[in-house]
Amino acid sequence: MARDIGPKCKKCRREGTKLFLKGDRCSGIKCAMIKRPYAPGQHGQARKMGLSEYGTQLREKQKIRRTYGIMEGQFKKYYDIASRMSGNTGNLLASLLEKRMDNVVYRLGMASSRSQARQLVNHGHFLLNGKKMDIPSCLVSEGDVISIKSDKSNYFQDLKNLIKNHQTPSWLSLDVKKVEGKVISEPVLKEIDTNIDVHLIIEYYSKS
Ligand code: SF4
Repeated sequence: MARDIGPKCKKCRREGTKLFLKGDRCSGIKCAMIKRPYAPGQHGQARKMGLSEYGTQLREKQKIRRTYGIMEGQFKKYYDIASRMSGNTGNLLASLLEKRMDNVVYRLGMASSRSQARQLVNHGHFLLNGKKMDIPSCLVSEGDVISIKSDKSNYFQDLKNLIKNHQTPSWLSLDVKKVEGKVISEPVLKEIDTNIDVHLIIEYYSKS
């Protein structure tokens, strides 16, 4: 499946906010949003955008799409699924994105970024309910168990140390000894740290 592979820091600079796409680097002084907190390109520093209503909605949609590393077509499919479900479409959309297998691996602290999580899932390093799951977009459900396939590589041998102080969201539980996570409820939306107004995205799609 196609993925968004453009330069990550440029995406943050374009959106004017940290999207946390590069793991540990995002919390350090090397973050491009600290060194160059303006839009990329020749006129990036001069550009002061007064956004129209449509522009604001578009940027919000791009922000969440880039945060989860999803291409336009697939993102629209999530919107279509959410809009057919009963309930608040914005909240349902956010919940669908959170339940992606790659995002759950990231939320469990088993990868430092969503893109790393996606690669690890793609390479078949994780099990879902005891069976190999190499589809990053697979949606998990309540009761699902996520574990590692093998701990032979250095990365997975170090994982216990990496996750021992990790704070998982309340809808997931983490067994550090077994390096195993469990989905214990639906995602809790107020814990989603993306700082994105999903309702602007719904307005964007409802007009297009
Ligand atoms: Fe964004 Fe991380 Fe790059 Fe900072 S280091 S600009 S948060 S991707």
